[in-house]
Amino acid sequence: MDVLEGAEGGEHVLDLSHLNLNSVSFETVSEKRRTETTQLHLSYNRLDALPLSLIRFTSLEFLDVSNNGLSVLSDALTGLTRLKTLLAKNNRLDEFSLPKNLGSLQGLEVVNFSGNRFEEIPKQLLQFRRLHSLSFGGNRVKHIPPEIENLTSLVQLQELSLRGNPLVVRFIKDMTYDPPSLLELAGRSIKTRNLRYSEHDLPADLVTYLDLASKCPNPKCGGVYFDSCVRHIKFVDFCGKYRLPLMHYLCSPECTSPCSSNPQSDTDSDDDQSVPADRLQRVLLG
Ligand SMILES: [Zn+2]
Repeated sequence: MDVLEGAEGGEHVLDLSHLNLNSVSFETVSEKRRTETTQLHLSYNRLDALPLSLIRFTSLEFLDVSNNGLSVLSDALTGLTRLKTLLAKNNRLDEFSLPKNLGSLQGLEVVNFSGNRFEEIPKQLLQFRRLHSLSFGGNRVKHIPPEIENLTSLVQLQELSLRGNPLVVRFIKDMTYDPPSLLELAGRSIKTRNLRYSEHDLPADLVTYLDLASKCPNPKCGGVYFDSCVRHIKFVDFCGKYRLPLMHYLCSPECTSPCSSNPQSDTDSDDDQSVPADRLQRVLLG
């Protein structure tokens, strides 16, 4: 459908939502109108693609393409360098749907990809330095990317919504434990008792093995592990209300983290000091 000049909305708003469109073309929108439009609403249509002519909305700051049938976001999107808000809820998007150069949209502050088919949070999104709200609820996310723990790039992020994703369920299902081998048990004894060893006493491969011991993260344990460990979910508490599940590894099932049953104390534990809780203010897990 061609868009007529009389489309609803204020001077800088072009509202084409709820029109049951299955395609959209901006050819009949005057150049003046295109370059002055700052908000474009295309939600609640039946679009399966966005036209390349989208790139001509050079002043666009707000784009809502929610509730369509989009399985891909057009490369034209990456030309909208003034974009601050991108709403693309309830489409058919996954991690392969995004333009390769999405990272060029460095002005993005709000991104909503809820109700799509993402199985992971695309790393491109973790590079937006101005992003303060990222909504990813109702997807198929099973992992939180490790980068998010450091939040070095997401310095402004205040809200991360992950409601309705399988990651919490999966965490619980995957908590399995294989008993340690005799080699591992011997290695653990040597390391926890601080027995001295060298290549004069042991074959080089055993020395290498012993040197690869991982320290159990439970501060009250002091033990080590090698290949056998218990995957454990630790809920890191933010603001006493929202909790973010983080995977960590313990030396044995008996070695329960004193923090895990008491989320409030998580913020006090040593290893949580690295998580800038003041930056990530709301983590919504439903
Ligand atoms: Zn331990």
